[in-house]
Amino acid sequence: MPLKPDLPEPEAVQHRVGLAIVGLGKLSAEELIPAIRTSQHARVAALVTSDLEEGRAFARAFDLTDADVYAYEDFEALKDRDDVDGVYIVLPNSLHREYTERAARMGKHVLCEKPLSVNAEDAQAMVDACSAAGVQLMTAYRCQYTPHHWAARDAVQGGKLGQVKLLDSIHVQVETDPEAWRMKLDLAGGGPLPDVGLYSLNILRFILATEPEWVFAALRQPTDDPRFREVEESVSFMLGFPDGIIANALTSYGAHKTTTLRVLGEGGSALMDPAFSYTGLSLTLTDPGGQTIPAFGSYDQFGLEVDHFAERVRDGKTPWTPGEEGVQDQRIMDAIYQSARTGQVVQLQKHPGKDVFRGEKPGLPGE
Ligand code: NAD
Repeated sequence: MPLKPDLPEPEAVQHRVGLAIVGLGKLSAEELIPAIRTSQHARVAALVTSDLEEGRAFARAFDLTDADVYAYEDFEALKDRDDVDGVYIVLPNSLHREYTERAARMGKHVLCEKPLSVNAEDAQAMVDACSAAGVQLMTAYRCQYTPHHWAARDAVQGGKLGQVKLLDSIHVQVETDPEAWRMKLDLAGGGPLPDVGLYSLNILRFILATEPEWVFAALRQPTDDPRFREVEESVSFMLGFPDGIIANALTSYGAHKTTTLRVLGEGGSALMDPAFSYTGLSLTLTDPGGQTIPAFGSYDQFGLEVDHFAERVRDGKTPWTPGEEGVQDQRIMDAIYQSARTGQVVQLQKHPGKDVFRGEKPGLPGE
């Protein structure tokens, strides 16, 4: 794994894979659109929004024209845009399925924000729709495209920490607005679990490259707080992986922003703190040789993720985090809620082997 990202010259803009951004909320405006402009192989070709005025202002700021801005009702007009190869869905979670199916019917490839949907059934329907239409479906798991997370995974997979015994991960933050879509069960599909706890779940699976065999969980949903009328405040879940490896995770909308990942092996450990922030990721590796904090050059996580999607659109190979990777997380989250409701351990279907839901490995900066 390269330690110093060394990015090649980006492609000329007119040759890049064109994306329509669907949903102009906080993530699109503050992170994705600026990141795509710095990517190597992708470009923003169109915007889909409920607020056309705001969309046009965006378009002008990002070298697009008013004609590149579409209302949600006019989504199907993208079909005739040959310069739009795919859509990037950045909407509240329960809308991901509808817009994926509509995009697939137009023959457009789909990059969809996490969580893929609101339950395993809807997520599987998205995979089926894209497969039937012969288009790519990639789940936007940015943390599976960073040099930091790959270095942690390589240390584990390369045996640097000895036999791994335990892992733990925390992703908590404070949400204050009871009216936000994230607090509405029908739009979000759950509370902190599908929103931020999913990072822990997904990266624990990524680091180990295997699938959990059972889950056990507890949740708390206070009855006297208007924020948690529909969704939980906190979840604690435990995952049992093959070889007796146990992972613990905590997620909440009620605790000060903290994101960590720790891997404990017989011969060493890995610590990421922060583990899931957009910038400033930190990895410390401790093994019999001592402690190292690997140095990485700067990179943009969203830019790396979008470039991988663009490459897979071009070469037709399965993305590293395809729809199936998102479906597996939904199955496990469904089981986590079931365990928390019943107080019982829930057994999961076994999936022996490594990286069974993943596709072609991403090229990382400098490779
Ligand atoms: P946001 O609330 O800032 O934006 C949501 C967008 O959807 C807005 O443009 C809003 O107008 C639009 N929208 C359309 N129909 C809506 C409806 N019925 N109710 C509410 N909004 C509606 O949300 P966001 O933070 O940009 O999150 C969007 C998606 O991106 C979610 O799936 C979220 O999980 C994901 N996300 C991912 C990351 C990441 O790091 N990968 C970070 C934040 C959010």
